[in-house]
Amino acid sequence: MAEYKGVMTFCEAAEGKLAASAAELLGGGRKLASDLGQELSAVLVGSGTGNLAQEAIAFGADKVYVVDDPLLKDYQTDSYVLVMEKVVKQAMPQIIIMGQSAIGRDLAPRLAFRLNTAASLGCLELAIDPQSKLMLQTKPVYGGNAQAVFVGSAFPQIATIRAKAMTPLEPDKSRKGEVVTIDAALDPSAIRAKVVEKVPEKLEGIRLEDAKVVVGGGRGIGSVEGFKQLEELAKLLRGAVGATRPPCDNEWAPAGAQIGLTGKIVTPDLYIAVALSGSSQHMSGCSGSKAIVAINKDAEANIFREARFGVVGDWKKVIPALTSKLKELLAG
Ligand SMILES: Cc1cc2nc3c(=O)[nH]c(=O)nc-3n(C[C@H](O)[C@H](O)[C@H](O)COP(=O)(O)OP(=O)(O)OC[C@H]3O[C@@H](n4cnc5c(N)ncnc54)[C@H](O)[C@@H]3O)c2cc1C
Repeated sequence: MAEYKGVMTFCEAAEGKLAASAAELLGGGRKLASDLGQELSAVLVGSGTGNLAQEAIAFGADKVYVVDDPLLKDYQTDSYVLVMEKVVKQAMPQIIIMGQSAIGRDLAPRLAFRLNTAASLGCLELAIDPQSKLMLQTKPVYGGNAQAVFVGSAFPQIATIRAKAMTPLEPDKSRKGEVVTIDAALDPSAIRAKVVEKVPEKLEGIRLEDAKVVVGGGRGIGSVEGFKQLEELAKLLRGAVGATRPPCDNEWAPAGAQIGLTGKIVTPDLYIAVALSGSSQHMSGCSGSKAIVAINKDAEANIFREARFGVVGDWKKVIPALTSKLKELLAG
């Protein structure tokens, strides 16, 4: 273990900006590094990402490894695994953390295999064990009904962490750090797949993950038309609509609206849970909400145990009444 030192964060960037996950990882990584009394580094891989190094330092990095190459413009498994293996062998971090994103989920296990170590995916919490100084990795198990703590004994310890599980620091533009440039020296023939086209996801209104108010609909909504009523309410509240798994499986709501263990994580100020029972798999995606208001016709539904306020009733009566009252208030 002696030669492995420090905490490394793999920072994603999009459209010339650090991704929100990068700031979160740096905030969480800073705490792990401080608990170890070691340095926090960030890795920026891409094309034109070098100019983001100062931003990573402002968010808490002591050192930034920049690998800037036109061949790295788009994420591609072969090139990114090769480059990360090179960076890790040079920097020898004890811990590597990545976001639980499409990229992190692909990159972390492949990198772990190359480095002959292990990776825990989708962690909810990371901490340093005060005795062993190993990273404790807490993640949901048994379909979200329990949480287990994993501790790998091989180095580097690699983990991906779910969105919003770590808190970014206030950026400090006066912070100083070291920038290390690493030459990718990629052989184009080693990159076996090419990105031929990018199709941006169509988005109307506010992103679910960014919304301060989320109206979440469950199986009891029963139809596309029902979800239209939730959309009307969400719009009035300047929020977004989410869903449990059954409405997404039934295509009453888009797949991207699913909140929970296998969906998105939301942490709004207000979560209005409509006609959903409050399963542990769903709650693992919305339990960080500041206040939950439940509307359910079953007074025994689990959601009432999680909610601060509740209405026992049929949503078909409650939602139109709430919507029309809101319209009245907003008009006045
Ligand atoms: C590995 C795994 C991963 C999963 N991942 C997820 C996930 O990410 N997200 C997720 O949501 N689920 C997930 N699930 C599914 C999860 O276990 C539940 O089945 C699901 O969350 C239930 O959705 P629901 O609450 O909408 O439906 P139900 O549990 O069927 O609840 C429907 C509720 O609507 C109420 N209701 C019905 N009609 C009305 C009405 N007219 N007015 C008011 N209330 C009404 C009922 O009283 C009931 O409480 C996962 C399951 C597994 C095994």
